[in-house]
Amino acid sequence: MARLTTQEKLAILADAAKYDASCASSGGAKRDSLKSGGIGSTEGSGICHAYAPDGRCISLLKILLTNFCIYDCSYCINRSSSNVRRARFSIDEVVRLTLGFYKRNYIEGLFLSSGVIRSPDETMAEMIEVARRLRIDEKFGGYIHLKTIPECAPELIERAGLYADRLSINVELPTDEGVQRLAPEKRPETIRLSMAKLRSKIEEKREPTLQTGRRERFAPGGQSTQMIVGADATSDDGILKTSARLYGSYHLRRVYYSAFSPIPDASKALPLRKPPLMREHRLYQADWLMRFYGFAQHEILEGVADGMLDLAVDPKLAWALRNRARFPVDVNRAEREALLRVPGLGTKAVDRILGTRRFRRLRLEDVGRLCGSIAKVRPFIVAEGWSPGGLLDRPGLRQKLVPKPRQMELFA
Ligand code: SF4
Repeated sequence: MARLTTQEKLAILADAAKYDASCASSGGAKRDSLKSGGIGSTEGSGICHAYAPDGRCISLLKILLTNFCIYDCSYCINRSSSNVRRARFSIDEVVRLTLGFYKRNYIEGLFLSSGVIRSPDETMAEMIEVARRLRIDEKFGGYIHLKTIPECAPELIERAGLYADRLSINVELPTDEGVQRLAPEKRPETIRLSMAKLRSKIEEKREPTLQTGRRERFAPGGQSTQMIVGADATSDDGILKTSARLYGSYHLRRVYYSAFSPIPDASKALPLRKPPLMREHRLYQADWLMRFYGFAQHEILEGVADGMLDLAVDPKLAWALRNRARFPVDVNRAEREALLRVPGLGTKAVDRILGTRRFRRLRLEDVGRLCGSIAKVRPFIVAEGWSPGGLLDRPGLRQKLVPKPRQMELFA
């Protein structure tokens, strides 16, 4: 095989990493200053945007150490039976690339994942060595997210936490049956055990030590995971049930949902079509309802026979339309919990309503100013001088609230 340049490896290994959603990339138009004669490019390999634990949006170099893999997970482009072009970075190359990009101000950190080469332990040890060299030898202060391999020795995951800001372990699919069918070399119980150990390590290191009274640095950004959506027949209700269990059992910072995309030479066990991207978006919205809006998982799709989220309207609006008897909510008197359930009111708008109503009674126009758009909110609230009357009971209400289709941009 011809020797590849670092640039060629970067093109292959950044492209191979794009299927990993656990550092969410933002979309944008493609631009390249080479063509325009100006400055800047959005087409360079491997740079994506993610949210740091403190909420800042940061750019990361997102790459695989290698896309060689001894495993054969049906849904993965890098599986051993795939015909994809292969490449492998040396530790030195990843360190140099990260530092080079960092010094040129292209990135603020590194997201490193890998196919499994030789054994999970050897692969994990190489990834840790990249992080160690960056942190200790190069005194790299940027963000590091390592995707760990659950089958590796627990000591290695412990070492990874010394250098990485965030660690993630993919659960891969929402059900054990799905993992057994599509990734037969992976064991769901091993994945769960690794997550449980990581959780206790993170908690243990958060406690100040008896000798120094200081906390040891260990994966301060916590742990996250990723689930592939649409590769098996699990309903959205089933997916959310798994997420709720993961959040509860392992104190995850995030569960990332990645819509399955068909890959070349795919196994017959996989669907031919990808799920609508809107499904991924609705799952994220439902996930937020559980984490920030006080919804129990079972409430979100209660009474929905097929257990699937409505793609036309957001999950909170869909829930409110099924539970009209709980509305209208009086914005001048209701508790925070009840306000958070009003469609169109986000957590910030609710806090603003609570803050403002200490001084005066809110009218519909005031709520409109505090929440941005009143159309979705209006049928579900009572305000000074406003009651929705029969609006809430109208059979055509859902249709009225479905967002209007938008013309796509011709040159996007
Ligand atoms: S172990 Fe990871 S890289 Fe290897 S085939 Fe499975 S999902 Fe792909």
